[in-house]
Amino acid sequence: MEYEIIVGLEVHVELSTKSKIYCSCTTDFGGEPNTHICPVCTGMPGVLPVLNKKVVEYAVKTGLATNCSIAKYSKQDRKNYFYPDLPKAYQISQYDLPLCRDGYIDIEVEGRTKRIGITRIHIEEDAGKLVHDQNETGTLIDYNRCGVPLIEIVTEPDMRSAQEARAFVESLRNILRYIDVSDCKMQEGSLRVDVNLSVRPKGQKEFGTRTEMKNLNSIRSMVRAIESEAKRQIEVIESGGIIVQETRRWDEHKGVSCSMRTKEEAHDYRYFPEPDLMPIVVDEEWKEEIKRSLPELPDARRKRYVNEYGLPGHDAFILTSSKALADFFEEAAGKCNNAKAVSNFILGDVSRILNDKGMEAEDIPFPAEYLAKLVKLVDQGTISTTIAKKVLEIMFEQKKDPQEIVREEGLEVVSDEKALAEVVKKVISNNTKLVEDYKKGKDKVFGFLVGQAMKETKGKANPRLLNKILKEELDKI
Ligand SMILES: [Zn+2]
Repeated sequence: MEYEIIVGLEVHVELSTKSKIYCSCTTDFGGEPNTHICPVCTGMPGVLPVLNKKVVEYAVKTGLATNCSIAKYSKQDRKNYFYPDLPKAYQISQYDLPLCRDGYIDIEVEGRTKRIGITRIHIEEDAGKLVHDQNETGTLIDYNRCGVPLIEIVTEPDMRSAQEARAFVESLRNILRYIDVSDCKMQEGSLRVDVNLSVRPKGQKEFGTRTEMKNLNSIRSMVRAIESEAKRQIEVIESGGIIVQETRRWDEHKGVSCSMRTKEEAHDYRYFPEPDLMPIVVDEEWKEEIKRSLPELPDARRKRYVNEYGLPGHDAFILTSSKALADFFEEAAGKCNNAKAVSNFILGDVSRILNDKGMEAEDIPFPAEYLAKLVKLVDQGTISTTIAKKVLEIMFEQKKDPQEIVREEGLEVVSDEKALAEVVKKVISNNTKLVEDYKKGKDKVFGFLVGQAMKETKGKANPRLLNKILKEELDKI
């Protein structure tokens, strides 16, 4: 029987506000354990929380960027559970009246666009961190992260494969970085994904029983976890078993998930309205103000690149998949009037070098203007495309102006007819056998001879001129 995988995601994102959600402690990552804390975020008796307005602004910004409707009136609730990372024994979250709901993101998988629904986005506080491996006599607790603002983004169960889930997280992360509300570093835990997954025979309407997977520290481990859990569920069903609704923990080293606890229902948490905080009111004026502060988002930018620069949709998609890369492209394209060539350089050699060096677009060590200059050097015929690749490598190493590199290294195209004729003659006399073949009608030899001559000039010969001279010299024989 063929099965269909149903995936929904819950994404927790730490917001990059300066201070925590209900106190003025810093949100900086790292720092000695328990140095970014105060009586409020450690839940001392008698303290009162005060909501950080920036948190609401960032959450609304995210909601607007993901096509959600924004609640004019929402409230915060206590989610009760006992675990030592949560000193108050409840987390302040939002239950029945979240700040944002009914949005969507369009993702692209294998050239096709698909819309993934967003059920809701709400604000809440993060918990502390338990450190199990630094003390032999017990577990240590670091409350620095306690009270760091989070948004939780809950999707509809719209994804049908690990690839779609990957595309969603990548698109979401891209949007969050465009609007600058989080650094989205999965390795530092500022973006965390939980996966809800079920399987059903293809064609069946009802959903199967789902499990929830936690502890996915990278997109790669999320993809592996989805594939492994889908396989496990199918095996259970095929062997006549039933899927238990539970929370499972992904073990990255072993590549398997194991049962953590049976899934808790909302009523297990005894949610009730937080009595110490006022309801959140987002009036039309504030919402409009936040809307105006939004930058051009990846989707709109992609469409503009296709219309304005005539780029293929796929190229535009890759360029806009990182704000830094898109900004770099646009600045360079604006300075050389050849957007297609700039795009080709970025998608080709620039991406390859970044990849080899393990760098991100943010780390490109030279200004966009230099790439524009490089494109101009090629367009004007000063250097060949082969040499341009070499110059680009040097730009990454030495952060120098390409014009300077070309001058210093003597890389200009050789367009001196006399000099090229000399080279051609030498190549002809070194390859008498091949020249004979050519004369007998073996046209392929011509390309080889061009290559030899190009090699002689270390790739610097003006190709058009070289072809012309070689043709002429061969005709003379
Ligand atoms: Zn605090």
